[in-house]
Amino acid sequence: MSHPHTSHIDPRSLPFEPLPKGVPTCSVELLHMGWIHSRRGMWADDAWEQDERRKQAKADADYSLPIFGALLQHGEDRYLWDLGWRNDPENLPEMFKSVSFGRTELPSSAQAHNLVDPSSLTGIIWSHAHIDHYGATDRFPPTIPLFLGEGSLKWINGGDKKGGLKSFPSTYLEQGREFIEVGEGSGERWKKRAIGPFEEAYDLFGDESTFLVKASGHCPGHLALLAHVSSGDWVFLAGDAAHNQALYLPVPPQPFHHETDRRSVPAKFKLTPESENWSCMQDFPEMFWRTASAMTRLEMEDNVMVVLGHEKEFATVAGLEAGDRCDLSQWRQKDLKKKKDQEGEKVREGLNEL
Ligand SMILES: [Zn+2]
Repeated sequence: MSHPHTSHIDPRSLPFEPLPKGVPTCSVELLHMGWIHSRRGMWADDAWEQDERRKQAKADADYSLPIFGALLQHGEDRYLWDLGWRNDPENLPEMFKSVSFGRTELPSSAQAHNLVDPSSLTGIIWSHAHIDHYGATDRFPPTIPLFLGEGSLKWINGGDKKGGLKSFPSTYLEQGREFIEVGEGSGERWKKRAIGPFEEAYDLFGDESTFLVKASGHCPGHLALLAHVSSGDWVFLAGDAAHNQALYLPVPPQPFHHETDRRSVPAKFKLTPESENWSCMQDFPEMFWRTASAMTRLEMEDNVMVVLGHEKEFATVAGLEAGDRCDLSQWRQKDLKKKKDQEGEKVREGLNEL
């Protein structure tokens, strides 16, 4: 189950479809929906590290992940991207009584339905159907359609009460809400195209301002979002395409060689302390390598800022706590991209001194 760091690929080797120019914008407000307090070894593994003692110390280091969602505003349309983790455990599937990813901190003020007026929305988009992204979907009117990546519904398979995916509440499927899968085989509305280093993307509003991007690796149907937020500047909301900045940064030096590539690899972990088997944060590691390098490649573009669904460094430099919001159209003015990448460098240097 462990992944050698030699599986990483050269980000510069990926074909790159230029981002459209002179297209409308979509406003993106990042929402901080709470924290998962954990250890770094659950999320990132510095497989390149030769010093076994230091490797272990890095894995044991405390690590807190913010849980991000976002509010998209495009003309009259308002979409919520991810709903975070609901804070009423009695409404979660049974399996979460024994499974833990760490200690959660989920103040009510940071619950999606309290950050945004549920009835004001045009649609909800899930990056993927996991507990820290599907939130309290049932708190939103069932007339609001829900968009998700192709293959998600087959994977969910009716959810926990119907013999399907144990981590998914069947009740969410029983509200009469329309679930709309986005993908090549999901009907006329979705026309596949390449964008940047990604091979498969779909134009959400039909004006090239906002793309739902197939970012494979983490789980079936995983989507990311690429939005043009202000004159030529874009943000890429990566969902759980990676859980830690160290998985896509630093950019490996040229010429590319695994010996000098300091990116981490997906961690392996045990779902419960009694588990005999290791689980991996990336269900499809063979697809993850391309997705990770595509994010590295995007971040190399001066006019794109990548933000992971749990990127701690972004919360740090933007000063975000649970319940806070951050207008991402301002990222260049506030120098947030440079700051969060430098913060990541500082964190990684600190770890190398353990
Ligand atoms: Zn997540």
